[in-house]
Amino acid sequence: MSYARVLCVGLVGVTGHVVEVEADLSPGLPAVVLTGLPDTALHEARDRVRAAMVNSGQVWPNRRITVNLLPAMLPKHGSAFDLAIACALLAGAGELPLAPMEGVAVLGELGLDGTVRPVRGVLPMVAAAADAGIERVIVPVGNAREAAVVPGVTVGAVDSLHRLVAFIKGQGPLMDPPAARAAPPSSGPDLADVAGQELGRHGLEVAAAGGHHLAMIGPPGAGKTMLAERLPSILPPLDDTSALEVTALQSIAGVLAADAELVRRPPFQAPHHSASLAALVGGGSGLARPGAISLAHRGVLFLDEAPEFAYLTLQALRQPLESGRVVLARSRGSTEYPAQVQMVIAANPCPCANPAGDQYCQCSAIARRRYLGKLSGPLMDRIDIQIRLQPLGVAQLMTTETPAESSAEVAARVSRARDAAAARWSAHGWRLNAEVPGPQLRRAPWRLPPKDTKALRAGLERGSLSARGFDRILRLAWSIADLDGRDRPTGSDVDEAAQLRMGEASDRQAGR
Ligand SMILES: [Zn+2]
Repeated sequence: MSYARVLCVGLVGVTGHVVEVEADLSPGLPAVVLTGLPDTALHEARDRVRAAMVNSGQVWPNRRITVNLLPAMLPKHGSAFDLAIACALLAGAGELPLAPMEGVAVLGELGLDGTVRPVRGVLPMVAAAADAGIERVIVPVGNAREAAVVPGVTVGAVDSLHRLVAFIKGQGPLMDPPAARAAPPSSGPDLADVAGQELGRHGLEVAAAGGHHLAMIGPPGAGKTMLAERLPSILPPLDDTSALEVTALQSIAGVLAADAELVRRPPFQAPHHSASLAALVGGGSGLARPGAISLAHRGVLFLDEAPEFAYLTLQALRQPLESGRVVLARSRGSTEYPAQVQMVIAANPCPCANPAGDQYCQCSAIARRRYLGKLSGPLMDRIDIQIRLQPLGVAQLMTTETPAESSAEVAARVSRARDAAAARWSAHGWRLNAEVPGPQLRRAPWRLPPKDTKALRAGLERGSLSARGFDRILRLAWSIADLDGRDRPTGSDVDEAAQLRMGEASDRQAGR
């Protein structure tokens, strides 16, 4: 036989596609031709596969070799095709009986010495194989645990080409995936650690309930980072679909632990303000890496000291925040990653990072306004909750008469509130209050009685409240009502919501 076919999987964004690797060996001048839109890494595959085969004690067939990857139109990136190419070549040369490989997908990069190396994105590749009806996959031993996360697929692991060849010839077994981690992963920081800071805790809870973006302005030591880090702990755990998406993105980014389980806790990403654009939104050659905003998909993206981020970096977040996905332009087509995040922004009130009115602060009112002004516009436009945090006195931190509520207690209220919102909006295609367009809330049957919005309408007429700000307060009022188990917001819910928008009010006062 001079023709053989082995199955593999390619990735486009987070979606895997089954790829057929064909090898044809014909008489003629020894040469290797790769077809089917291969990128640079695939051309390098030729050299890796040759060295790996020779160093595994196989004979490199001195014939005219054509390797074709189907479907041809599918862009193919990365080194995961190596092992399948080697198998197809050996089978095409008549060295391997391919019957045991019928309906089996093979993934893995080859080292020059014939070892099989882990590749990025195995989880979504195996998931795609399973969707295509493939029941068995062979993966690098370093990826076997994440492959085993996918239900309905038998995972065999290999550490070398030699082992795979022995298995196909019936001379030895594959390796088993390592056992799942016995202890559950740590649940992360808990709200019980945050003493005092009532406004911050409340803002966080309302943000979690309604899916609202949150901005916290306050001096260093006000607990902004502590609060932000604890937002995932009060969000509902990821459902099966979300968990698979989030774990797949970590797999593609190459940040999934070797003993990985399906990620159930909403992720938390806190890129530094000096982070590159690629680190933030994604990029890189070959199989593009998802950036922080995609690694925060279905979780929290925290921008600490947000005014310190480069203007262009903040601008680059606009489109993903709007559409919930990142599109990375590539030389061949584009790669798309999901990016549905809840954003938390923290900022010091002034560039010197001393408390306002502090004796060391020399910043003028103009300098302060300009500093926070860097955040205004398109980014702040999307943020429903803007709260000003006061520094915590040492006394307040140390003397807590009643212990602070734990994340579990708050999460239970958040979960009930989200259920109520989903029940109300699901017929319209929304899940969270933050997703509801403003005009909808001003119309029957959702319009609130005039007496409850009197102060807001007065603010509108005075010009101290914008139409957008009005809609935000309505959205927040619904989240507050959901948290307290009311069918509709009351006047006091609206007042409370207005307080969570004090960031805007204080800005306006400062601007006078
Ligand atoms: Zn200052």
